[in-house]
Amino acid sequence: MGSFHLARMSMRNLFSKPATRRYPTEAPSFAPMTKGHVVNDIALCILCGICVKKCPADALVVDKPAGTWAIDPFACVQCYTCVRACPKDSLSMLPDYTKAAVGKSVHVEKKPQQPETKKG
Ligand code: SF4
Ligand code: SF4
Repeated sequence: MGSFHLARMSMRNLFSKPATRRYPTEAPSFAPMTKGHVVNDIALCILCGICVKKCPADALVVDKPAGTWAIDPFACVQCYTCVRACPKDSLSMLPDYTKAAVGKSVHVEKKPQQPETKKG
């Protein structure tokens, strides 16, 4: 490689945009259909448990009496199966990555309490 070529390459790199991004101060952009993490719009969820049965990674738990839906984000393999299977379209895959954590944890969504209806 000639010195002229090397100098030209150095100058081009000196004045061009950096190839890397200053993460996390500069937010990354995600391609459409990026497999990020699963979220549940709990207001739409009927706690039917279909997503639990379909999940190949045992990442989901539904507790109907307690009114909760839970996901272990460290077990989820972002396969999209639960999102496709949900009959209420309450599940979606957000195109951003699960935040780094120092310990494993389960994310729990609880259905809001329904106001009691008076009988009689
Ligand atoms: S399949 Fe959908 S509606 Fe049924 S428990 Fe899962 S998230 Fe809720
Ligand atoms: S995306 Fe796949 S692995 Fe993750 S919770 Fe849904 S079904 Fe389970």
